[in-house]
Amino acid sequence: MNEVLIKSRDILENVTPLRVDCGRICGDACCKSGGDELGMYLFPHEEELIGGGFTIKDAGGAMKGEKICVCNGSCDRKTRPLSCRIFPLAFSLKSGKPEIETDVRAWPVCPLMNSGLDGMLPEFRKRVYEALLLLWNDEESKSFMIKLDRELESYRTLTL
Ligand code: SF4
Ligand code: SF4
Repeated sequence: MNEVLIKSRDILENVTPLRVDCGRICGDACCKSGGDELGMYLFPHEEELIGGGFTIKDAGGAMKGEKICVCNGSCDRKTRPLSCRIFPLAFSLKSGKPEIETDVRAWPVCPLMNSGLDGMLPEFRKRVYEALLLLWNDEESKSFMIKLDRELESYRTLTL
């Protein structure tokens, strides 16, 4: 079992972008979109931690060899993947190590994007950063993050 992965998930167990349930603002838009075929990327070995109720598939394309999970739009919070715990934040490796940023893929679904990083709770931002740094020190997660950053870069380029 990957201890770093467990710890990173734990760090993000009880934090959310806002003090209130932001799903009330948008009608759980990201969960509804998470239920489609796109799914959420899983960190290496995360499929061992998320429990049942998800369909796990190869991510394909530039992320071939990595896994995505597709949900049915609702889940037990304890089982949700890191991608959902972090959303609508993501990371960039522009400086050679992870830095948090808003996730460009969130623009079509998440109303929090309009307020940017400053609109989200400092505790949420701090914990996402802490979890990402921890994962960065794990070789398998680091390789995954480098691959995912390249994928995110293609979305960043599209939105420029
Ligand atoms: S789409 Fe944004 S505001 Fe809505 S539940 Fe997801 S993170 Fe919260
Ligand atoms: S796994 Fe849970 S938190 Fe993530 S998109 Fe699906 S329902 Fe939402």
